[in-house]
Amino acid sequence: MATTPHVPIAILGAGLTGMSAALDLGEKKVEHRIFEKLAHAGGHAITLEDDGFRFDRTGHLLHLRDPEMRKRVLSWIGDDWVEVKRRSVIWSHGRYSRYPFQANTFGLPPDVANECLLGFIKAHFSTEKTEPKTFEEFCLAHFGEGISRHFMIPYNSRLWGVHPSEITADWCSRFVPLPKLEDVVAGAVGLNDRELGYNTSFVYPRLGIGELSKAMASRLPQIEYQKAPTRVDVARKRLVFDDGEVGYDALISTAPLSVLVGMLDGAPAEVKAAGDKLRCSHLYYLDVGTRTPSGTDHHWVYVPEEKYPFYRIGCYSHFSAALAPEGKACFYVELASREAPDMSTLVPEVARAMVEMGILKSPDDIEVAHLRRIDHAYVIFDHAYFPSLDVIRPYLESQGIVSAGRYGGWNYSSMEDALLFGVDAALRATQILV
Ligand SMILES: Cc1cc2nc3c(=O)[nH]c(=O)nc-3n(C[C@H](O)[C@H](O)[C@H](O)COP(=O)(O)OP(=O)(O)OC[C@H]3O[C@@H](n4cnc5c(N)ncnc54)[C@H](O)[C@@H]3O)c2cc1C
Repeated sequence: MATTPHVPIAILGAGLTGMSAALDLGEKKVEHRIFEKLAHAGGHAITLEDDGFRFDRTGHLLHLRDPEMRKRVLSWIGDDWVEVKRRSVIWSHGRYSRYPFQANTFGLPPDVANECLLGFIKAHFSTEKTEPKTFEEFCLAHFGEGISRHFMIPYNSRLWGVHPSEITADWCSRFVPLPKLEDVVAGAVGLNDRELGYNTSFVYPRLGIGELSKAMASRLPQIEYQKAPTRVDVARKRLVFDDGEVGYDALISTAPLSVLVGMLDGAPAEVKAAGDKLRCSHLYYLDVGTRTPSGTDHHWVYVPEEKYPFYRIGCYSHFSAALAPEGKACFYVELASREAPDMSTLVPEVARAMVEMGILKSPDDIEVAHLRRIDHAYVIFDHAYFPSLDVIRPYLESQGIVSAGRYGGWNYSSMEDALLFGVDAALRATQILV
């Protein structure tokens, strides 16, 4: 009788987290196998080629804060990359203002700027200091009513696909820049000339973010493509595939955590119930190729107002001109609605908005528009988030399973984080072996 194949460490997924883990294990000569559901590596970090344009899965810029990781990434992608200094703006009340909204209200209609400034000052000097519990309360407490009403609440409702009152305040501090009073006042009178926030300059492979994934995958000939287990037999530590089983001592999973919990055979009912409570939004966006260059030089634009069908629009070919044929441009348009759109009405509506925003001269400038969907886009930090993870995480740990990455770890994080999560997952899995 044939014996079941066995591997010390099995990895699910060849996105950035899984590949980073595999590269690390390879360097340390730890035996492992890596299984990828799709026919290609990269997960969300890929570049599609269509009609002469190159499109990422919406904007994917690398912000490398960790000096060691920066060195590693640059050693993988070689010399073919560019440094991008963020040029992002907000389109609101028929005009552009700089990002972030809260520190750049100069140029908005005077009554709006006044409402924003006054609201901020009231919130700033408020003596009522209760800890905000929801993202909405966080916005009102830190930005005041005007900024919340004109930007934070509508924009974030459109981005996350749920109202900020459904989101806990706990995740905000790293990703929502909190300006100082001086910055808000200076920004209201047009004096702010420095960029705020966590992401002001980026590394970007000249031919698209997929080049990073390709470079990593080229060092991982062991990736087994189009191979995903249907179940994980937790007690016997086996991955069950359609064509057989593979035993493991430690499992690194970068599949979405809700999917992994669904695959676990033999997990207690409370773990399954906690898995059912995990929420993640999907996202529809358009990849648009135009026969003309962009009429503005912005990398991306935040669009908070409900009258537009999209909450953000970015220009890929401003990240790197090599993404569009000469004299043309390409864009991503992230749609606010989570319903599958009717392209016959959506594309003219998007084209009209792009003309209004000065990006296109004429709606006829659109050459191609492709509708795309991201099934797992944003993990929702709702009020069940922490209680659910408090049940799932210790259980996985007790079973020798390391669930890592943006979706495996069920968090909001960047590509650099994914690469670092991979290294950490490799270490944790190796510790399970000893
Ligand atoms: C709209 C959007 C914009 C973003 N913009 C940026 C940005 O500008 N900068 C930035 O740094 N980050 C950005 N990110 C985040 C970035 O995409 C992620 O942090 C990173 O790609 C996550 O990598 P991962 O490997 O953890 O997950 P994934 O990319 O999801 O990879 C998981 C892999 O596992 C495979 N898989 C799934 N299930 C199984 C299974 N059962 N068996 C085997 N394989 C499986 C999948 O096919 C996939 O290849 C953005 C994300 C989104 C959604």
